[in-house]
Amino acid sequence: MKQSHDTKIENLQRSVRQFYDAKTQVKIYHGSTNSTRTLDFDKNKMVDVSSFDEIIEINGEKLYAVVEANVALDKLVNATLKLGLIPLVVSEFPGITVGGAVQGGAGESSSFKWGCLHETCLEYEVVTASGEVSKATAEHNADLFYGMPCSYGSLSILTTITLRLAPITKNIQLEYLRVSSYAEALEMIQAKTKTAVEFVDAIMFAPDKGVVMVGAPTSDSRLPLKTFHKSTDEWFYIHAEQVIDRQPIYREAIPIKDYLFRYDRGAFWLGKQGFRLFHVPFNRLTRLWFASLMQTRTLYRFLHGANISQQFVIQDVCLPSAAVLPFLDYIDKHLGVYPLWLCPLKPDAKHSLAPNHIDSNLVVNVGVWGALRRDYKDFVADNRQLEQAIASAGGRKVLYAHTYYTPPEFWRSYDKKSYDMVRQRYEAAAIFPTIYDKIIVNRRLVPSLAKGFLALLKSPF
Ligand SMILES: Cc1cc2nc3c(=O)[nH]c(=O)nc-3n(C[C@H](O)[C@H](O)[C@H](O)COP(=O)(O)OP(=O)(O)OC[C@H]3O[C@@H](n4cnc5c(N)ncnc54)[C@H](O)[C@@H]3O)c2cc1C
Repeated sequence: MKQSHDTKIENLQRSVRQFYDAKTQVKIYHGSTNSTRTLDFDKNKMVDVSSFDEIIEINGEKLYAVVEANVALDKLVNATLKLGLIPLVVSEFPGITVGGAVQGGAGESSSFKWGCLHETCLEYEVVTASGEVSKATAEHNADLFYGMPCSYGSLSILTTITLRLAPITKNIQLEYLRVSSYAEALEMIQAKTKTAVEFVDAIMFAPDKGVVMVGAPTSDSRLPLKTFHKSTDEWFYIHAEQVIDRQPIYREAIPIKDYLFRYDRGAFWLGKQGFRLFHVPFNRLTRLWFASLMQTRTLYRFLHGANISQQFVIQDVCLPSAAVLPFLDYIDKHLGVYPLWLCPLKPDAKHSLAPNHIDSNLVVNVGVWGALRRDYKDFVADNRQLEQAIASAGGRKVLYAHTYYTPPEFWRSYDKKSYDMVRQRYEAAAIFPTIYDKIIVNRRLVPSLAKGFLALLKSPF
């Protein structure tokens, strides 16, 4: 039987108070993750919030939703679309939870307009380290309201989130625009974000070949209709490349849900690494055969089961627009990994832990995913060099990924003073590790493809 929200809160308070009294440091378990860090939960030292997965209210008149923190984005979108609405920011992977998105600074192709998902939030309900239930808005407990986003569960436990919604049409017109250099891509991204469109992102397939994709609501039934959720559909990034190989500009209509989760099959392009690991040819037929293994939820199960995240450099980097071109040259020279994802973000002046808390007219997120590194030392060295390159460029990493900073290096990029003040006011140190302790990776992982397979058995496949 399903528990009411009040019962879940009471159980959570009880559990938290026990840890608070015993002064035990805990981690927050929510049943899944889109982080690449290995999950190492000790059952005696964790707070389980996985049951907080209900939608409490969708208000079609006032355009907001009230959801428990562990509601996945696809569940929320399914419910809001029934009223012709969507959240203003929907992160690309359907299994990302609203709470995880707030805590992890999730953004996507509408973020040039709205910022990361947390910037569309109106209120948080939290359970603090001492077991108190508090509400935080821009006016009430403002330090908590602005401190929670991107704190990675190091301040309080999020239980409920109120976030904004907007009306949407059934289909999105997506315009694919071929570009022939990083500079052309950046120029076009900057120009398009100043026009009346809803979505902008880009993929670079090589230094001299890329596509900028611009989305807007459409009711034009003359456009060709393309979907991306069916096994027989091509992976989105492959389709995008095929499109611009044929013509410099192309337009099509995509059903809104297919658009929002277009990168799910193949996890952008990371799923291709699975074919490489098992020496399986990567072609249309094999993508069809293994289609049910290629959704992000399943791919994450394999990644964590097999413990192979130290074999690939996977990072998202937020940069001031002026630093993007030299940084792309750096990536090309040092990692040579393609495709690269470019996603423009509105700079976030209010949330000091946010990855786009950067002083610039526009921030660009660069997704650097999949550079293969078989040797552990090479992997750590590449990550360390990348961290230094990001700092020199005035950028910030998105902290879902592996980080190897020393504490002084880390805190040079973040405002420790204001972070410590909020931690102190809400007694967070009593049970929650610091953000640094949560995101740092300080050990070598032991990979096991067999364990990866076992993790796959849990999938619907
Ligand atoms: C290859 C790759 C591509 C990505 N691409 C995108 C993208 O395109 N768009 C995008 O938005 N994001 C992207 N992400 C990142 C993703 O948005 C973040 O990892 C996000 O935080 C994931 O949310 P989650 O629900 O999986 O939470 P988790 O990653 O599991 O959790 C994030 C943090 O929040 C804490 N937490 C979770 N729930 C709670 C709670 N209720 N209360 C307090 N703390 C809590 C956890 O302890 C953890 O520290 C990408 C990640 C990868 C690896």
